[in-house]
Amino acid sequence: MTHIGIDLGTTNSLISVFEEAGPRLLPNRLGKFLTPSVVGYDGKQLYVGETALARKVANPDQVVTAFKRTMGTEKDYKIGGKRFDSVELSSAVLATLKEDAETALGAPVDDVVISVPAYFNEMQRSCVATAARTAGLNPVRLINEPTAAALAYGLQDLDAESCFLVFDLGGGTFDVSVLEVFEGVMEVKATSGDAFLGGEDFSDVLAKHLFSLLQKDQQTDANRVPVAKIAEEVKRTLTERPAAEVKIDRPGLSLAAHVTRDEFEDLSASLLKRLRRPLERVLHDARLAPSDLEKVVLVGGATRMPVIRSMLAKTLRHFPDAHIDPDHAVALGAAVQAGLVGKNEALSDVVMTDVTAHSLGVETARQIGGRHFDGYFLPIIERNTVIPVSREEVISALHPGQTAIEVNVYQGEAPDVKSNVKLGSVTVNLPRSKSGEVEPASVRFTYDVSGLLDVDVTTLSDEKTTSLLIKNLAGHMSDKDIEATRKKLSKLKTHPAEEEVNILLRARIEQCFSMARLDQRAEFSELLTQFDAVLANQDRSEIERFRTDIAPLLDQFEASYVL
Ligand code: AMP
Repeated sequence: MTHIGIDLGTTNSLISVFEEAGPRLLPNRLGKFLTPSVVGYDGKQLYVGETALARKVANPDQVVTAFKRTMGTEKDYKIGGKRFDSVELSSAVLATLKEDAETALGAPVDDVVISVPAYFNEMQRSCVATAARTAGLNPVRLINEPTAAALAYGLQDLDAESCFLVFDLGGGTFDVSVLEVFEGVMEVKATSGDAFLGGEDFSDVLAKHLFSLLQKDQQTDANRVPVAKIAEEVKRTLTERPAAEVKIDRPGLSLAAHVTRDEFEDLSASLLKRLRRPLERVLHDARLAPSDLEKVVLVGGATRMPVIRSMLAKTLRHFPDAHIDPDHAVALGAAVQAGLVGKNEALSDVVMTDVTAHSLGVETARQIGGRHFDGYFLPIIERNTVIPVSREEVISALHPGQTAIEVNVYQGEAPDVKSNVKLGSVTVNLPRSKSGEVEPASVRFTYDVSGLLDVDVTTLSDEKTTSLLIKNLAGHMSDKDIEATRKKLSKLKTHPAEEEVNILLRARIEQCFSMARLDQRAEFSELLTQFDAVLANQDRSEIERFRTDIAPLLDQFEASYVL
Protein backbone atom coordinates (compact mmCIF):
# COMPACT_ATOMS: atom_id res chain seq x y z
CA MET A 1 0.00 0.00 0.00
CA THR A 2 1.22 3.49 -0.83
CA HIS A 3 1.76 5.71 2.16
CA ILE A 4 1.72 9.42 1.55
CA GLY A 5 2.75 12.39 3.63
CA ILE A 6 0.75 15.60 3.88
CA ASP A 7 1.90 18.97 5.16
CA LEU A 8 -1.36 20.74 6.02
CA GLY A 9 -0.01 24.29 6.30
CA THR A 10 -1.61 27.57 7.34
CA THR A 11 -0.79 29.15 3.98
CA ASN A 12 -0.02 26.19 1.71
CA SER A 13 -0.39 22.42 1.80
CA LEU A 14 1.77 19.79 0.08
CA ILE A 15 1.63 16.08 -0.69
CA SER A 16 4.54 13.66 -0.90
CA VAL A 17 5.27 9.98 -1.33
CA PHE A 18 8.11 7.78 -0.13
CA GLU A 19 9.77 5.73 -2.87
CA GLU A 20 12.90 3.64 -3.20
CA ALA A 21 14.90 6.68 -4.21
CA GLY A 22 13.62 8.66 -1.23
CA PRO A 23 10.80 11.10 -0.56
CA ARG A 24 9.25 12.96 -3.51
CA LEU A 25 6.70 15.77 -3.71
CA LEU A 26 3.60 15.13 -5.80
CA PRO A 27 2.21 17.85 -8.10
CA ASN A 28 -1.41 18.97 -7.76
CA ARG A 29 -3.92 19.21 -10.65
CA LEU A 30 -2.28 22.44 -11.81
CA GLY A 31 1.16 20.82 -11.86
CA LYS A 32 2.32 22.72 -8.75
CA PHE A 33 3.67 21.43 -5.43
CA LEU A 34 2.05 24.12 -3.29
CA THR A 35 -1.74 24.07 -2.93
CA PRO A 36 -2.95 27.20 -1.10
CA SER A 37 -4.89 26.17 2.05
CA VAL A 38 -7.82 28.26 0.89
CA VAL A 39 -11.49 27.31 0.42
CA GLY A 40 -14.23 29.20 -1.40
CA TYR A 41 -17.97 28.60 -1.76
CA ASP A 42 -20.27 30.68 -3.96
CA GLY A 43 -23.56 29.05 -2.94
CA LYS A 44 -23.27 26.54 -5.79
CA GLN A 45 -19.71 25.28 -6.07
CA LEU A 46 -16.84 24.60 -3.70
CA TYR A 47 -13.39 25.91 -4.71
CA VAL A 48 -10.11 24.75 -3.16
CA GLY A 49 -6.53 25.98 -3.52
CA GLU A 50 -5.32 28.43 -6.12
CA THR A 51 -8.74 28.85 -7.73
CA ALA A 52 -10.25 29.78 -4.38
CA LEU A 53 -7.36 32.19 -3.69
CA ALA A 54 -7.74 33.86 -7.11
CA ARG A 55 -11.46 34.44 -6.37
CA LYS A 56 -10.69 36.21 -3.10
CA VAL A 57 -10.18 39.74 -4.47
CA ALA A 58 -13.43 39.75 -6.44
CA ASN A 59 -15.48 37.77 -3.87
CA PRO A 60 -13.91 38.34 -0.43
CA ASP A 61 -16.97 37.10 1.50
CA GLN A 62 -16.96 33.76 -0.32
CA VAL A 63 -13.38 32.77 0.50
CA VAL A 64 -11.64 31.67 3.73
CA THR A 65 -7.88 31.61 4.33
CA ALA A 66 -5.66 30.73 7.33
CA PHE A 67 -8.40 28.64 9.02
CA LYS A 68 -5.73 26.40 10.56
CA ARG A 69 -5.31 29.20 13.11
CA THR A 70 -8.76 28.47 14.55
CA MET A 71 -8.45 24.67 14.58
CA GLY A 72 -9.92 23.32 17.82
CA THR A 73 -12.02 26.42 18.53
CA GLU A 74 -15.74 27.02 18.11
CA LYS A 75 -15.15 29.54 15.32
CA ASP A 76 -16.99 29.01 12.07
CA TYR A 77 -17.01 30.97 8.83
CA LYS A 78 -20.01 31.93 6.72
CA ILE A 79 -19.23 31.79 3.00
CA GLY A 80 -21.71 31.65 0.13
CA GLY A 81 -24.55 31.47 2.66
CA LYS A 82 -23.26 28.33 4.44
CA ARG A 83 -21.33 27.86 7.67
CA PHE A 84 -18.09 25.86 7.78
CA ASP A 85 -15.73 25.25 10.70
CA SER A 86 -11.98 24.74 10.41
CA VAL A 87 -12.37 20.92 10.46
CA GLU A 88 -14.72 21.01 7.47
CA LEU A 89 -12.53 23.50 5.59
CA SER A 90 -9.39 21.41 6.27
CA SER A 91 -11.30 18.35 5.16
CA ALA A 92 -12.11 20.04 1.82
CA VAL A 93 -8.38 20.75 1.32
CA LEU A 94 -7.41 17.19 2.30
CA ALA A 95 -10.01 15.68 -0.05
CA THR A 96 -8.53 17.70 -2.94
CA LEU A 97 -5.00 16.61 -2.01
CA LYS A 98 -6.14 12.97 -1.86
CA GLU A 99 -7.62 13.26 -5.35
CA ASP A 100 -4.45 14.92 -6.69
CA ALA A 101 -2.21 12.27 -5.09
CA GLU A 102 -4.34 9.52 -6.62
CA THR A 103 -4.09 11.15 -10.06
CA ALA A 104 -0.31 11.62 -9.73
CA LEU A 105 0.25 8.05 -8.55
CA GLY A 106 -2.45 6.34 -10.58
CA ALA A 107 -3.46 4.40 -7.46
CA PRO A 108 -5.89 4.83 -4.58
CA VAL A 109 -4.56 6.54 -1.46
CA ASP A 110 -5.90 5.89 2.05
CA ASP A 111 -3.15 5.82 4.67
CA VAL A 112 -1.50 9.15 5.35
CA VAL A 113 0.94 10.75 7.75
CA ILE A 114 -0.09 14.35 8.41
CA SER A 115 2.14 16.95 10.02
CA VAL A 116 0.84 19.25 12.76
CA PRO A 117 2.55 22.11 14.62
CA ALA A 118 4.40 20.82 17.68
CA TYR A 119 2.49 23.42 19.65
CA PHE A 120 -0.95 21.98 18.81
CA ASN A 121 -2.77 20.64 21.86
CA GLU A 122 -4.61 17.32 21.91
CA MET A 123 -7.88 18.91 20.89
CA GLN A 124 -6.33 20.49 17.80
CA ARG A 125 -4.60 17.22 16.86
CA SER A 126 -7.85 15.39 17.20
CA CYS A 127 -9.50 17.94 14.87
CA VAL A 128 -6.86 17.29 12.18
CA ALA A 129 -7.40 13.52 12.44
CA THR A 130 -11.16 14.06 12.14
CA ALA A 131 -10.72 16.29 9.06
CA ALA A 132 -8.63 13.52 7.45
CA ARG A 133 -11.23 10.83 8.19
CA THR A 134 -13.97 13.08 6.83
CA ALA A 135 -11.92 13.42 3.62
CA GLY A 136 -11.85 9.62 3.32
CA LEU A 137 -8.25 9.28 4.52
CA ASN A 138 -6.83 7.12 7.28
CA PRO A 139 -4.41 9.22 9.38
CA VAL A 140 -1.99 6.48 10.50
CA ARG A 141 0.12 9.01 12.34
CA LEU A 142 0.27 12.72 13.09
CA ILE A 143 3.86 13.91 13.16
CA ASN A 144 5.16 17.14 14.67
CA GLU A 145 6.29 19.46 11.89
CA PRO A 146 9.84 19.97 13.30
CA THR A 147 10.29 16.21 13.69
CA ALA A 148 9.25 15.79 10.05
CA ALA A 149 11.76 18.45 9.00
CA ALA A 150 14.52 16.64 10.90
CA LEU A 151 13.65 13.41 9.03
CA ALA A 152 13.83 15.29 5.69
CA TYR A 153 17.34 16.46 6.60
CA GLY A 154 18.25 12.85 7.41
CA LEU A 155 19.26 13.85 10.93
CA GLN A 156 18.14 10.43 12.18
CA ASP A 157 21.23 9.01 10.44
CA LEU A 158 23.75 11.08 12.41
CA ASP A 159 26.24 8.71 14.08
CA ALA A 160 27.34 10.49 17.18
CA GLU A 161 25.03 11.77 19.87
CA SER A 162 23.96 15.22 18.72
CA CYS A 163 21.37 17.89 19.36
CA PHE A 164 19.86 20.22 16.82
CA LEU A 165 17.28 22.95 16.64
CA VAL A 166 14.46 23.18 14.12
CA PHE A 167 13.23 26.74 13.56
CA ASP A 168 9.91 26.75 11.71
CA LEU A 169 8.34 30.08 10.76
CA GLY A 170 5.39 29.61 8.41
CA GLY A 171 2.72 32.05 7.27
CA GLY A 172 0.87 32.11 10.57
CA THR A 173 2.58 29.84 13.09
CA PHE A 174 5.96 29.60 14.74
CA ASP A 175 7.44 26.41 16.20
CA VAL A 176 10.87 25.84 17.59
CA SER A 177 12.08 22.44 18.76
CA VAL A 178 15.24 20.90 20.12
CA LEU A 179 15.77 17.31 19.03
CA GLU A 180 18.42 14.78 19.97
CA VAL A 181 19.72 11.82 18.02
CA PHE A 182 21.48 9.04 19.88
CA GLU A 183 22.26 5.60 18.43
CA GLY A 184 19.49 5.83 15.84
CA VAL A 185 16.93 7.10 18.32
CA MET A 186 15.42 10.50 17.66
CA GLU A 187 13.99 12.31 20.62
CA VAL A 188 12.22 15.65 20.81
CA LYS A 189 13.71 17.20 23.93
CA ALA A 190 11.64 20.36 24.04
CA THR A 191 9.25 22.37 21.94
CA SER A 192 7.97 25.89 22.15
CA GLY A 193 6.44 28.44 19.82
CA ASP A 194 3.66 30.89 19.18
CA ALA A 195 0.47 29.86 17.39
CA PHE A 196 -0.20 33.46 16.36
CA LEU A 197 3.10 34.57 14.87
CA GLY A 198 4.29 34.10 11.30
CA GLY A 199 5.43 35.61 8.01
CA GLU A 200 2.10 37.42 7.64
CA ASP A 201 2.92 39.54 10.70
CA PHE A 202 6.10 40.72 8.95
CA SER A 203 4.01 41.70 5.90
CA ASP A 204 1.64 43.53 8.26
CA VAL A 205 4.37 45.75 9.73
CA LEU A 206 5.44 46.70 6.19
CA ALA A 207 1.80 47.32 5.23
CA LYS A 208 1.35 49.65 8.22
CA HIS A 209 4.53 51.50 7.27
CA LEU A 210 3.36 51.94 3.64
CA PHE A 211 -0.11 52.97 4.80
CA SER A 212 1.35 55.70 7.01
CA LEU A 213 3.35 57.02 4.02
CA LEU A 214 0.17 57.02 1.93
CA GLN A 215 -1.80 58.92 4.52
CA LYS A 216 0.70 61.78 4.34
CA ASP A 217 -0.15 62.14 0.66
CA GLN A 218 -3.27 64.30 0.32
CA GLN A 219 -3.77 63.33 -3.35
CA THR A 220 -4.28 59.62 -2.75
CA ASP A 221 -7.15 57.78 -1.11
CA ALA A 222 -5.09 55.36 1.02
CA ASN A 223 -7.96 52.90 1.30
CA ARG A 224 -7.99 52.36 -2.46
CA VAL A 225 -4.42 51.05 -2.57
CA PRO A 226 -3.88 47.27 -2.19
CA VAL A 227 -1.33 47.87 0.56
CA ALA A 228 -1.26 44.25 1.78
CA LYS A 229 -0.35 42.95 -1.68
CA ILE A 230 2.36 45.58 -2.12
CA ALA A 231 3.77 44.83 1.35
CA GLU A 232 4.03 41.11 0.55
CA GLU A 233 5.89 41.98 -2.65
CA VAL A 234 8.25 44.38 -0.82
CA LYS A 235 8.96 41.69 1.77
CA ARG A 236 9.92 39.18 -0.92
CA THR A 237 12.05 41.76 -2.76
CA LEU A 238 13.95 42.44 0.48
CA THR A 239 14.80 38.74 0.64
CA GLU A 240 16.54 39.06 -2.72
CA ARG A 241 17.91 42.60 -2.52
CA PRO A 242 19.09 45.07 0.16
CA ALA A 243 16.38 47.59 -0.77
CA ALA A 244 12.96 47.72 -2.45
CA GLU A 245 11.39 50.55 -4.45
CA VAL A 246 7.67 51.12 -4.69
CA LYS A 247 6.51 53.46 -7.40
CA ILE A 248 2.88 53.85 -8.37
CA ASP A 249 1.88 56.93 -10.28
CA ARG A 250 -1.64 57.05 -11.58
CA PRO A 251 -4.29 59.75 -11.48
CA GLY A 252 -5.47 59.99 -7.86
CA LEU A 253 -3.13 57.23 -6.75
CA SER A 254 0.55 57.82 -6.13
CA LEU A 255 3.00 56.08 -3.88
CA ALA A 256 6.77 56.30 -3.87
CA ALA A 257 8.69 54.50 -1.16
CA HIS A 258 12.17 53.18 -0.63
CA VAL A 259 12.52 50.51 2.06
CA THR A 260 15.88 49.02 3.05
CA ARG A 261 16.58 45.76 4.88
CA ASP A 262 17.84 47.74 7.89
CA GLU A 263 14.57 49.70 8.02
CA PHE A 264 12.62 46.45 7.75
CA GLU A 265 14.66 45.03 10.63
CA ASP A 266 13.86 48.13 12.74
CA LEU A 267 10.15 47.88 11.86
CA SER A 268 10.18 44.18 12.84
CA ALA A 269 12.02 44.68 16.16
CA SER A 270 9.06 43.66 18.35
CA LEU A 271 8.34 40.58 16.19
CA LEU A 272 12.00 39.50 16.38
CA LYS A 273 11.79 39.88 20.16
CA ARG A 274 8.68 37.65 20.20
CA LEU A 275 10.64 35.04 18.22
CA ARG A 276 13.57 35.15 20.62
CA ARG A 277 11.48 34.34 23.71
CA PRO A 278 10.43 30.77 22.66
CA LEU A 279 14.00 30.24 21.37
CA GLU A 280 15.37 30.94 24.84
CA ARG A 281 12.62 28.89 26.50
CA VAL A 282 13.23 25.81 24.35
CA LEU A 283 16.97 25.83 25.11
CA HIS A 284 16.23 26.34 28.79
CA ASP A 285 13.72 23.44 28.83
CA ALA A 286 16.19 21.18 27.00
CA ARG A 287 18.94 22.29 29.44
CA LEU A 288 21.23 23.22 26.57
CA ALA A 289 23.42 26.15 25.61
CA PRO A 290 23.58 27.34 21.98
CA SER A 291 27.09 25.83 21.73
CA ASP A 292 25.60 22.35 22.43
CA LEU A 293 23.70 22.48 19.14
CA GLU A 294 25.14 20.57 16.21
CA LYS A 295 22.89 22.16 13.63
CA VAL A 296 20.12 24.70 13.16
CA VAL A 297 17.60 23.79 10.48
CA LEU A 298 15.18 26.23 8.82
CA VAL A 299 11.60 25.39 7.87
CA GLY A 300 8.70 27.51 6.57
CA GLY A 301 8.62 30.12 3.80
CA ALA A 302 9.22 33.05 6.15
CA THR A 303 12.71 31.77 7.16
CA ARG A 304 13.88 32.95 3.73
CA MET A 305 13.98 36.48 5.16
CA PRO A 306 17.57 37.57 5.86
CA VAL A 307 16.37 39.34 9.06
CA ILE A 308 15.48 35.91 10.46
CA ARG A 309 18.76 34.28 9.45
CA SER A 310 20.87 37.09 10.91
CA MET A 311 18.82 37.09 14.13
CA LEU A 312 19.47 33.35 14.49
CA ALA A 313 23.15 33.69 13.68
CA LYS A 314 23.46 36.42 16.34
CA THR A 315 21.38 34.64 18.98
CA LEU A 316 22.65 31.07 18.51
CA ARG A 317 26.04 31.74 16.89
CA HIS A 318 25.18 29.17 14.21
CA PHE A 319 24.69 29.68 10.50
CA PRO A 320 21.40 27.89 9.85
CA ASP A 321 21.14 25.09 7.30
CA ALA A 322 18.49 25.64 4.62
CA HIS A 323 19.69 23.44 1.79
CA ILE A 324 16.25 21.85 1.46
CA ASP A 325 13.61 24.31 0.24
CA PRO A 326 12.03 25.53 3.52
CA ASP A 327 8.56 25.12 2.01
CA HIS A 328 9.20 21.46 1.14
CA ALA A 329 11.04 20.08 4.18
CA VAL A 330 8.00 19.18 6.33
CA ALA A 331 6.14 17.41 3.51
CA LEU A 332 9.27 15.46 2.52
CA GLY A 333 9.75 14.45 6.17
CA ALA A 334 6.11 13.36 6.46
CA ALA A 335 6.78 11.05 3.49
CA VAL A 336 9.86 9.64 5.25
CA GLN A 337 7.66 8.92 8.27
CA ALA A 338 5.07 7.35 5.96
CA GLY A 339 7.87 5.14 4.64
CA LEU A 340 8.75 4.18 8.21
CA VAL A 341 5.14 3.37 9.02
CA GLY A 342 4.98 1.25 5.89
CA LYS A 343 8.24 -0.43 7.03
CA ASN A 344 9.91 0.50 3.80
CA GLU A 345 13.26 -1.25 3.77
CA ALA A 346 15.13 1.64 2.20
CA LEU A 347 15.22 3.23 5.64
CA SER A 348 17.14 2.16 8.68
CA ASP A 349 14.82 1.75 11.59
CA VAL A 350 14.46 4.78 13.79
CA VAL A 351 12.85 4.68 17.17
CA MET A 352 10.86 7.86 17.52
CA THR A 353 10.01 9.34 20.82
CA ASP A 354 7.93 12.40 21.39
CA VAL A 355 7.12 14.86 24.14
CA THR A 356 3.95 16.35 25.55
CA ALA A 357 3.47 19.83 24.09
CA HIS A 358 1.47 21.04 27.10
CA SER A 359 1.22 20.19 30.80
CA LEU A 360 -1.57 17.84 31.82
CA GLY A 361 -3.11 18.01 35.27
CA VAL A 362 -6.15 18.32 37.48
CA GLU A 363 -8.11 21.04 39.23
CA THR A 364 -7.45 21.45 42.94
CA ALA A 365 -8.74 23.59 45.75
CA ARG A 366 -6.67 25.36 48.38
CA GLN A 367 -7.52 26.19 51.95
CA ILE A 368 -6.55 29.62 53.20
CA GLY A 369 -7.68 30.76 56.65
CA GLY A 370 -10.38 28.07 56.86
CA ARG A 371 -11.86 29.09 53.49
CA HIS A 372 -11.76 27.04 50.31
CA PHE A 373 -10.64 28.48 47.00
CA ASP A 374 -10.97 26.26 43.96
CA GLY A 375 -9.93 26.47 40.34
CA TYR A 376 -6.18 25.92 40.77
CA PHE A 377 -4.24 23.81 38.25
CA LEU A 378 -2.07 20.99 39.61
CA PRO A 379 0.17 19.72 36.78
CA ILE A 380 0.79 15.96 36.88
CA ILE A 381 2.70 15.57 33.60
CA GLU A 382 4.82 18.67 32.86
CA ARG A 383 5.13 20.03 29.35
CA ASN A 384 8.04 18.64 27.34
CA THR A 385 8.02 15.30 29.17
CA VAL A 386 9.13 12.43 26.93
CA ILE A 387 6.22 10.07 26.18
CA PRO A 388 5.12 7.36 26.89
CA VAL A 389 4.94 8.52 30.49
CA SER A 390 3.07 7.60 33.65
CA ARG A 391 2.98 9.94 36.68
CA GLU A 392 1.06 10.04 39.92
CA GLU A 393 -0.02 12.71 42.45
CA VAL A 394 -1.97 12.35 45.64
CA ILE A 395 -5.00 14.58 46.12
CA SER A 396 -7.47 14.56 48.94
CA ALA A 397 -11.10 15.26 49.71
CA LEU A 398 -11.85 18.70 51.09
CA HIS A 399 -13.59 17.71 54.30
CA PRO A 400 -14.19 14.59 56.41
CA GLY A 401 -17.30 12.57 55.51
CA GLN A 402 -17.25 13.72 51.87
CA THR A 403 -18.84 10.95 49.75
CA ALA A 404 -17.41 11.75 46.31
CA ILE A 405 -14.83 13.88 44.55
CA GLU A 406 -14.98 15.21 41.04
CA VAL A 407 -11.64 15.03 39.23
CA ASN A 408 -11.46 17.60 36.42
CA VAL A 409 -8.65 17.06 33.90
CA TYR A 410 -7.03 20.03 32.17
CA GLN A 411 -4.26 20.82 29.72
CA GLY A 412 -2.28 24.06 29.67
CA GLU A 413 0.32 26.20 31.42
CA ALA A 414 -1.82 28.68 33.39
CA PRO A 415 -1.99 28.38 37.19
CA ASP A 416 -5.78 28.77 37.15
CA VAL A 417 -7.82 26.12 35.31
CA LYS A 418 -10.19 28.55 33.64
CA SER A 419 -7.36 29.70 31.34
CA ASN A 420 -6.53 26.08 30.41
CA VAL A 421 -8.37 23.57 28.23
CA LYS A 422 -10.69 21.10 29.95
CA LEU A 423 -10.22 17.56 28.66
CA GLY A 424 -12.71 15.63 30.77
CA SER A 425 -13.97 14.84 34.21
CA VAL A 426 -14.64 11.79 36.39
CA THR A 427 -16.56 11.43 39.66
CA VAL A 428 -15.04 9.07 42.21
CA ASN A 429 -17.02 7.69 45.15
CA LEU A 430 -15.12 7.80 48.43
CA PRO A 431 -15.28 5.03 51.05
CA ARG A 432 -16.91 5.91 54.35
CA SER A 433 -14.05 7.17 56.47
CA LYS A 434 -13.61 5.32 59.78
CA SER A 435 -11.05 7.65 61.24
CA GLY A 436 -12.92 10.86 60.48
CA GLU A 437 -9.96 12.01 58.42
CA VAL A 438 -10.22 13.45 54.90
CA GLU A 439 -9.90 10.69 52.34
CA PRO A 440 -6.78 10.71 50.12
CA ALA A 441 -6.72 9.40 46.53
CA SER A 442 -3.94 8.98 44.01
CA VAL A 443 -4.38 10.26 40.47
CA ARG A 444 -2.27 8.48 37.86
CA PHE A 445 -1.92 9.89 34.34
CA THR A 446 -0.63 7.56 31.61
CA TYR A 447 -0.03 9.14 28.26
CA ASP A 448 1.26 7.48 25.08
CA VAL A 449 2.17 8.29 21.48
CA SER A 450 -1.31 7.50 20.22
CA GLY A 451 -2.51 10.57 22.12
CA LEU A 452 -4.72 8.67 24.58
CA LEU A 453 -4.64 9.85 28.17
CA ASP A 454 -5.51 7.26 30.81
CA VAL A 455 -6.61 8.70 34.14
CA ASP A 456 -6.78 6.28 37.09
CA VAL A 457 -8.05 7.57 40.43
CA THR A 458 -7.42 5.17 43.33
CA THR A 459 -8.85 5.77 46.78
CA LEU A 460 -6.02 4.84 49.11
CA SER A 461 -7.89 3.32 52.05
CA ASP A 462 -9.78 0.68 50.02
CA GLU A 463 -7.58 0.65 46.88
CA LYS A 464 -10.57 0.98 44.51
CA THR A 465 -9.70 2.45 41.11
CA THR A 466 -11.97 4.52 38.86
CA SER A 467 -10.69 5.08 35.33
CA LEU A 468 -11.28 7.63 32.63
CA LEU A 469 -9.90 7.29 29.11
CA ILE A 470 -9.65 10.66 27.44
CA LYS A 471 -10.01 10.25 23.74
CA ASN A 472 -13.37 11.89 23.40
CA LEU A 473 -11.78 15.33 23.39
CA ALA A 474 -13.79 18.23 22.07
CA GLY A 475 -13.10 18.25 18.34
CA HIS A 476 -13.08 14.48 18.25
CA MET A 477 -16.15 13.31 16.35
CA SER A 478 -17.92 10.00 16.54
CA ASP A 479 -18.06 7.89 13.36
CA LYS A 480 -21.67 9.04 12.96
CA ASP A 481 -20.69 12.72 13.10
CA ILE A 482 -17.85 12.12 10.64
CA GLU A 483 -20.29 10.48 8.24
CA ALA A 484 -22.71 13.43 8.58
CA THR A 485 -19.93 15.96 7.82
CA ARG A 486 -18.76 13.84 4.89
CA LYS A 487 -22.32 13.89 3.51
CA LYS A 488 -22.58 17.67 3.99
CA LEU A 489 -19.33 18.21 2.05
CA SER A 490 -20.02 15.65 -0.67
CA LYS A 491 -23.34 17.33 -1.43
CA LEU A 492 -21.45 20.49 -2.34
CA LYS A 493 -20.52 20.31 -5.96
CA THR A 494 -16.87 20.60 -6.88
CA HIS A 495 -15.81 20.95 -10.49
CA PRO A 496 -13.91 18.15 -12.25
CA ALA A 497 -10.13 18.45 -11.80
CA GLU A 498 -9.49 18.94 -15.53
CA GLU A 499 -11.56 22.14 -15.48
CA GLU A 500 -9.31 23.67 -12.84
CA VAL A 501 -7.09 25.66 -15.27
CA ASN A 502 -10.15 27.24 -16.89
CA ILE A 503 -11.77 28.12 -13.57
CA LEU A 504 -8.47 29.59 -12.39
CA LEU A 505 -8.15 31.70 -15.54
CA ARG A 506 -11.73 32.97 -15.21
CA ALA A 507 -11.04 33.88 -11.55
CA ARG A 508 -7.89 35.76 -12.62
CA ILE A 509 -9.82 37.80 -15.21
CA GLU A 510 -12.41 38.62 -12.53
CA GLN A 511 -9.61 39.60 -10.16
CA CYS A 512 -8.08 41.93 -12.80
CA PHE A 513 -11.55 43.40 -13.40
CA SER A 514 -11.99 44.30 -9.75
CA MET A 515 -8.46 45.71 -9.43
CA ALA A 516 -8.74 47.78 -12.63
CA ARG A 517 -9.73 51.42 -12.93
CA LEU A 518 -13.24 52.05 -14.24
CA ASP A 519 -11.98 52.93 -17.73
CA GLN A 520 -10.00 49.66 -17.94
CA ARG A 521 -12.80 47.44 -16.76
CA ALA A 522 -14.63 47.15 -20.08
CA GLU A 523 -11.64 45.28 -21.52
CA PHE A 524 -11.71 42.61 -18.80
CA SER A 525 -15.48 42.35 -18.92
CA GLU A 526 -15.22 41.75 -22.68
CA LEU A 527 -12.54 39.09 -22.09
CA LEU A 528 -14.82 37.29 -19.64
CA THR A 529 -17.65 37.17 -22.18
CA GLN A 530 -15.28 35.92 -24.88
CA PHE A 531 -13.89 33.24 -22.59
CA ASP A 532 -17.38 32.05 -21.61
CA ALA A 533 -18.28 31.81 -25.31
CA VAL A 534 -15.11 29.79 -26.06
CA LEU A 535 -15.83 27.48 -23.10
CA ALA A 536 -19.39 26.95 -24.34
CA ASN A 537 -18.06 25.63 -27.67
CA GLN A 538 -16.25 22.85 -25.77
CA ASP A 539 -13.44 22.73 -28.30
CA ARG A 540 -10.31 21.82 -26.33
CA SER A 541 -7.75 23.31 -28.72
CA GLU A 542 -9.71 26.55 -29.07
CA ILE A 543 -9.91 26.85 -25.26
CA GLU A 544 -6.18 26.19 -24.93
CA ARG A 545 -5.36 28.79 -27.62
CA PHE A 546 -7.48 31.38 -25.84
CA ARG A 547 -5.74 30.65 -22.54
CA THR A 548 -2.28 30.98 -24.13
CA ASP A 549 -3.24 34.20 -25.93
CA ILE A 550 -4.55 36.10 -22.95
CA ALA A 551 -2.07 34.88 -20.31
CA PRO A 552 0.60 37.55 -21.17
CA LEU A 553 -2.04 40.29 -20.90
CA LEU A 554 -3.08 39.16 -17.41
CA ASP A 555 0.56 38.68 -16.31
CA GLN A 556 1.40 42.18 -17.50
CA PHE A 557 -1.59 43.79 -15.80
CA GLU A 558 -0.98 41.98 -12.50
CA ALA A 559 2.73 42.90 -12.52
CA SER A 560 2.10 46.57 -13.38
CA TYR A 561 -0.45 46.82 -10.64
CA VAL A 562 1.88 45.83 -7.88
CA LEU A 563 5.21 47.57 -8.38
P1 AMP B 1 4.39 28.63 4.74
O1 AMP B 1 3.21 28.63 5.66
O2 AMP B 1 5.55 27.87 5.22
O3 AMP B 1 4.05 28.36 3.31
O4 AMP B 1 4.95 30.14 4.76
C1 AMP B 1 4.47 31.13 3.96
C2 AMP B 1 5.09 32.44 4.46
O5 AMP B 1 6.41 32.56 3.93
C3 AMP B 1 4.30 33.63 4.03
O6 AMP B 1 4.18 34.56 5.09
C4 AMP B 1 5.19 34.20 2.92
O7 AMP B 1 5.05 35.61 2.82
C5 AMP B 1 6.58 33.83 3.38
N1 AMP B 1 7.54 33.80 2.27
C6 AMP B 1 7.56 32.96 1.21
N2 AMP B 1 8.57 33.27 0.37
C7 AMP B 1 9.21 34.32 0.92
C8 AMP B 1 10.36 35.10 0.54
N3 AMP B 1 11.03 34.86 -0.59
N4 AMP B 1 10.74 36.11 1.36
C9 AMP B 1 10.07 36.38 2.50
N5 AMP B 1 8.99 35.69 2.91
C10 AMP B 1 8.56 34.67 2.14
